[in-house]
Amino acid sequence: MDPEEHSSRDFIREIIDEHNKNGQFEGRVHTRFPPEPNGYLHIGHAKSICLNFGIAEEYGGQCNLRFDDTNPSKEEEEYVRSIIRDVQWLGFDWEDRLFFSSDYFDKMYEYAVQLVKAGKAYVDELSAEEIREYRGSLTTPGKESPHRDRPTEESLDLLERMKAGEFGDGEKVLRAKVDMSHPNMNMRDPVMYRILHATHHNTGDKWCIYPMYDWAHGLEDSIEGITHSICTLEFENHRPLYDWFLNELGIYHPQQIEFARLNLTYTVMSKRMLLELVEGKYVSGWDDPRLPSISGMKRRGYPPEAIREFCGRIGVAKVNSTIAIEFLEHCVRDALNRTARRYMGVLDPLKVVIENFSDEEEFMDVVNNPEDPEAGTRKVPFSNELYIERGDFMVDPPKKFYRLAPGREVRFRNAYLVTCTDHIMDGEKVVELRCRIDPESRGGDAPDGRKVRSTIHWVSAKHALDAEVRLYETLFTVEEPLGQKDVDFKELLNPESLKVLKGCKVEPSLQELQPYDRFQFERLGYFCADPDTTGMVFNRTVPLRDTWAKIQKQQRKA
Ligand code: ATP
Ligand code: MG
Repeated sequence: MDPEEHSSRDFIREIIDEHNKNGQFEGRVHTRFPPEPNGYLHIGHAKSICLNFGIAEEYGGQCNLRFDDTNPSKEEEEYVRSIIRDVQWLGFDWEDRLFFSSDYFDKMYEYAVQLVKAGKAYVDELSAEEIREYRGSLTTPGKESPHRDRPTEESLDLLERMKAGEFGDGEKVLRAKVDMSHPNMNMRDPVMYRILHATHHNTGDKWCIYPMYDWAHGLEDSIEGITHSICTLEFENHRPLYDWFLNELGIYHPQQIEFARLNLTYTVMSKRMLLELVEGKYVSGWDDPRLPSISGMKRRGYPPEAIREFCGRIGVAKVNSTIAIEFLEHCVRDALNRTARRYMGVLDPLKVVIENFSDEEEFMDVVNNPEDPEAGTRKVPFSNELYIERGDFMVDPPKKFYRLAPGREVRFRNAYLVTCTDHIMDGEKVVELRCRIDPESRGGDAPDGRKVRSTIHWVSAKHALDAEVRLYETLFTVEEPLGQKDVDFKELLNPESLKVLKGCKVEPSLQELQPYDRFQFERLGYFCADPDTTGMVFNRTVPLRDTWAKIQKQQRKA
């Protein structure tokens, strides 16, 4: 799909406009982002965050951050903290509206009692397996439970005792009394509460019955006065139930709207699978720069404004599709090109001795970012011993190789025109170059206007700092790691996804970098100072070459 084809006026905003016109919510717009704290956020969540917070902002409304913490067994404080950090980092503000679904457990229970009293819910004693059996299938109607028509008083008493802890896990459930032959399976007397003797991160041991998602979610939205409950397409079939609960209770009723989830090529996006990669140590943690997690992207060097831009430009749709990861990288480059300072660093150093340069260093004035005059200049030391990239020299260059070679002149960026006069070999390996500068070419321009075909980067050997550089490729070798029949996605992990280069040489100004600082190494790409490692460790965010235009062309053709 071509993300550029979307207009900013999507179907969700059209629905909201319509509501505002007909006065359904008195012109109010109140959304929420409702993560379950059972993992770290990923870029799919970023899409939902940008949508919910973005819409609230556009309409002068509000957006809540609500932890959907109704399932005690998989949820942890660490996840709560990481989600708060990530939403903030993305640049959104919920002000004083940070909520937990578990704060509504009492209210939810009252509502459940109300439904039982109205004859719209009952305590069932079928086992989970029997419930599944009784549900029927898409082609056959379900069968009613023998407990379905038990007296209201009996259900009320059993519900009270379920809550009091008299029964073991799974012994009883509370079910809505809807319709066992409803064509929508979600309407066949769905379970509202199950018994689970588990400690909850927020409510401790107060509860041993926990609400199911479908029962809880609409209540949470209703309690918070949400106007538009935006969720992903897989909940479309659950909307009739969302509406049924709120209608039967006769309480404030938000509008659920579904949109297509974000999928990206060469990665997986579900928290369960990301957790599998983290726990199986296939990656270094939730913030591994190869993961599509927000914290991984932050560590990789993606600027939050690039993620917001990406989410805005892909738009929202009603059908699921997959976005090319190259488009995300394109947005990242775009943002970094404007903001990242340029530096020089050599990943695979080859020593160069300048024969006609004194023992003293000289300081070159270098522009920090040609795209941003405000970024100013810095001093970069040049001396008679330098490092250049091994790949920028060839003893016997083929036709189209314009970089350094015996007898050839190139530009050393921001410094001088330099001619290679000799090279020293150790066996097959070049170990040192001898070169001469044109002293008249300081700054890099020839006095007589003669042209050189190539410009290369360098660092002064004496002043250089040692660094480790980590290069990344896609996490998986195939575009759709989940689309392969009978192959576990972990078998498709890319063995080349991380390459660690030690012994890199970088210019001394990099000493000033703080963790997470983003910058460009000229000719090599955008990088980010790794936060977790002492010393100089840089993660490559993206190489410089943008492949999005090419992919877009291919997609248009297809
Ligand atoms: P996952 O399947 O990755 O575990 P989830 O939907 O279970 O995700 P939640 O914490 O329940 O994760 O989701 C919080 C919100 O983020 C929900 O409104 C959900 O619809 C939305 N969301 C999750 N994944 C995506 C995605 N890939 N694209 C868009 N929105 C998403
Ligand atoms: Mg979920």
